[in-house]
Amino acid sequence: MKRIRELLQSDPTDQPLIVEGWIRTKRDSKHFCFFEINDGSSLKSLQVIIDKTSEEINQTIQRISTGASVSFSGILAESPGKNQRVEMKADKVELIGEAPPESYPLQKKRHSFEFLRDIAHLRPRTNTLGAVTRVRSALSHGVHSFFQERGFLYIHTPIITASDCEGAGEMFQVTTLPLGDVPKQKKGDVDYTQDFFGKPAGLTVSGQLEGEIYALAMKHIYTFGPTFRAENSNTSRHLAEFWMIEPEMAFCTLDGNMALAEEFLKYLFRYVLEHCGDDMEFFNQWIHKGLIDSLQGVVESTFTHLTYTDAVRELKGANREFDYPVSWGVDLQSEHEKYLTEEVCKGPVIVTDYPREIKAFYMKLNDDEKTVRAMDVLVPRLGEIIGGSEREDRYDLLLRRLKDQGLNPDDYWWYLDLRRYGSVPHSGFGLGFERAIQYITGMQNIRDVIPFPRTVRNAEF
Ligand code: ATP
Ligand code: MN
Repeated sequence: MKRIRELLQSDPTDQPLIVEGWIRTKRDSKHFCFFEINDGSSLKSLQVIIDKTSEEINQTIQRISTGASVSFSGILAESPGKNQRVEMKADKVELIGEAPPESYPLQKKRHSFEFLRDIAHLRPRTNTLGAVTRVRSALSHGVHSFFQERGFLYIHTPIITASDCEGAGEMFQVTTLPLGDVPKQKKGDVDYTQDFFGKPAGLTVSGQLEGEIYALAMKHIYTFGPTFRAENSNTSRHLAEFWMIEPEMAFCTLDGNMALAEEFLKYLFRYVLEHCGDDMEFFNQWIHKGLIDSLQGVVESTFTHLTYTDAVRELKGANREFDYPVSWGVDLQSEHEKYLTEEVCKGPVIVTDYPREIKAFYMKLNDDEKTVRAMDVLVPRLGEIIGGSEREDRYDLLLRRLKDQGLNPDDYWWYLDLRRYGSVPHSGFGLGFERAIQYITGMQNIRDVIPFPRTVRNAEF
């Protein structure tokens, strides 16, 4: 059976066809009834017109309303309407599942995204969430194509891990210890030897450390999987569960890393513009005016490179009051990031060489001993979309950095080992998949670009 997407592109035909889907709208008149039916394959619905030739058809039609699942049989005729080439002239209709209008929450009007989040089990049936769903799926494919075309190997890094990559205390703990009666050691500390893994474990905040293991054997790898952060911040760009893409390249310094990040983002934007034309037109018209032009602009642009030190200088010289004052050494807030990309660079910018104190232990120390080879890619409207670095590949320095940050080197014995055996300059970055979708679709809130958002106090569905 053909999907509606295909039917809409077909020529009229007398061959009998069947179409099944959910009713979006119904328009009843004396002798006919018009329906718009959608099956998720495209933004556009198929118009179906049925003659009320029999009492049986008439009775079925009475019970069909928005949201009902229906199967029609008929032929594909040229449509007199100007919105579509073809429409179905149906001679048979079967109501499969009713959707009583008194209670069906999705009526033919614009609902707020907040409201739709409360009915996440029905929201994929709306135009916007349907379009997001198709873009998300296409983009996943685009991610794999990009790396597979370039010989990167897809590595599945673990979801449960005992190493906290970011060391930022954002890890969800995984335990089978009884919470009400936790076994204790003599000093009162939790006795993790009795826990499932015999030591503290959590949900991964990044696949990077394990990704590095594979990069130092397979040269070019990437991961693409779920990532968890107990982010207590209630923002429009943070989730507790999100998907991250993390390439890692051996024999590669920060320059190669920046080049890959730029090439990757441009590839993804082009990919979606090419593969999701209708959906992108929709976002351009209804969600963010000028979206397509802005993406096209990025594809044709060259990303600006700026050191953190220069960025701070720009921010200090800015003719603007920031909520968070800027001085050398502070982490950049979203407002600063947006100013840099929107006002200073007027396009994507890669900020590099951040103070070591505000970045993770694994980033390579610069000769100035003050900054590390970090890079954040910032884009207009969103701020940070990618975070990455060249990794510290020198054993002694890595050991020092671990200790400086109060981490126990024994926990990182295998990570240190990689610097003892065949160490090599290597680099990588993480792209938040939802941030990419947000940027591409123009959707304001990250909760609306993932099917089932997990945030503070919210794990419904
Ligand atoms: P931010 O400062 O925005 O919290 P971060 O510095 O914590 O980001 P990284 O640790 O560098 O982020 O993670 C790499 C990428 O993963 C980020 O650039 C972003 O795209 C994405 N990301 C990070 N945290 C989240 C989150 N809580 N929800 C969704 N995406 C995230
Ligand atoms: Mn964060």
